[in-house]
Amino acid sequence: MKFFDRVTIHTKHTTKAACIEWLATAGVSAAESDIISGIETYAHSPYRYCDIVVRHLHDQQRRDRLSSAYNRLRPGEEPLAFELQVDYSQADLLSASLCTCAMQRMMKVRSGSAYGTQYDWGNACEFCGVGRRQIGPLIAKRSLLSKKQKLTVSWDADWIVSSVLSGAIVTEIDGGEACINSVIDNQTRESFGYGQLVPLAELPPWDAATTGIAIDERDPRRCRVCCRSGFRGVAGELFMPVVDASKIDLGTIPPIMESFEKWEYSDVKGTLHGCPFVARGDMVLRRDVVALFLKLKVRGMNLSPVRVFNQ
Ligand SMILES: [Zn+2]
Repeated sequence: MKFFDRVTIHTKHTTKAACIEWLATAGVSAAESDIISGIETYAHSPYRYCDIVVRHLHDQQRRDRLSSAYNRLRPGEEPLAFELQVDYSQADLLSASLCTCAMQRMMKVRSGSAYGTQYDWGNACEFCGVGRRQIGPLIAKRSLLSKKQKLTVSWDADWIVSSVLSGAIVTEIDGGEACINSVIDNQTRESFGYGQLVPLAELPPWDAATTGIAIDERDPRRCRVCCRSGFRGVAGELFMPVVDASKIDLGTIPPIMESFEKWEYSDVKGTLHGCPFVARGDMVLRRDVVALFLKLKVRGMNLSPVRVFNQ
């Protein structure tokens, strides 16, 4: 049995003091400052909330206290997510045919439709808009992009890569060129050295053996047409994706894919609650891409090996 290395709690609290008070309700004293290793307020985003990262979860009691506090919260108070995470070894990651890749932080950068990126809605879900196809370059706000990061994700769930990483994908990955799209500045409309990472396929739904992801059937915001938006993490359960080997052909899969299940809700069609974002899927990377990203020391990734059932 592996230990959990950390839990990230995305809260709706807006101050550190409120986070510390919430931790106190979990029986985790603020005096235990060693376990509160990062709280960040997303002040410049459309949302304002704090992340709490709690490390040293080798203590089972501490983990249980946090899980039960999460479960006691009343509707409306609950954190947006309660993610248990494990830092897998390179050997673990490279022994898997596929890994999911979630970024630990989203950049406070809008992109996509916020700046007029064009989409073909022909095959998009008529209710939630998931499945729209981007046409042409991604338009993003250059000034807010970090030059240090090789891979980042915008608030609009677009994956943006540095010139170093996009160049390596094109030259070192079989089929890599098709995964890179150009990114242009929202003001000058010129390209500025970044690329967009584009998934070339959507995986089939995760197998029923998958843990750590669920959908609330009662939530009216989830999409009942395509059933792809509205997925959330399960509090206190590690995300361990499993795919049925009979549903994919590992010999012909493209380098970059996207999960069928999309996190949170999608309302790009504007029919529900006014959220302008498209629900986002997990990036799913083929083994050679995982190896390249590890070799180039891409930071900020939460990689999870995908178990291919019956393999
Ligand atoms: Zn839908």
